[in-house]
Formats: sequence, structure tokens, C-alpha cells
Amino acid sequence: MKLEVDVKRCEGHGLCLQAAPQVLHHNENSEVVIDVEVLSGEALAQAEAAVRICPVAALRLTPKP
Ligand code: SF4
Repeated sequence: MKLEVDVKRCEGHGLCLQAAPQVLHHNENSEVVIDVEVLSGEALAQAEAAVRICPVAALRLTPKP
């Protein structure tokens, strides 16, 4: 699975950073940057939690082609 962020929708709350510290971070402009290209195991579990916690549904998991 792959995690994607809709940067236009993201409001920079940072809740996803707490849910998925292994998977993403904020850059200097408070934009979400995805660090892990292909997710599995603990990283996937964190990504799923981040998708659930984002208040504006800016994150989504998609199958990695
Ligand atoms: S929780 Fe959602 S709105 Fe907040 S920084 Fe993460 S992706 Fe953006």
C-alpha cells in the first residue's frame, strides 16, 4: 500500500504526525511529506491510523501498482 496526501485539502493540524511518525513528517512550510514509499507491517498500521485521524480526510491509502 502507498500513502498519499491531498496537499490542497491538508490544513496542517499535524495529528497524522503523531499517529504515523515512521511514515511522514512536516517540512519547514508545515506541509506533509511522505517518507515511506511502500508500506507494510508497523508502518502500514501507523498509516491506517493517520488516515482515520485526519480531520479533513486529506490522507488516503491506495494499492501500490
Ligand atoms: S492530520 Fe490531515 S490535515 Fe492534519 S497535517 Fe495531517 S494530513 Fe494535514
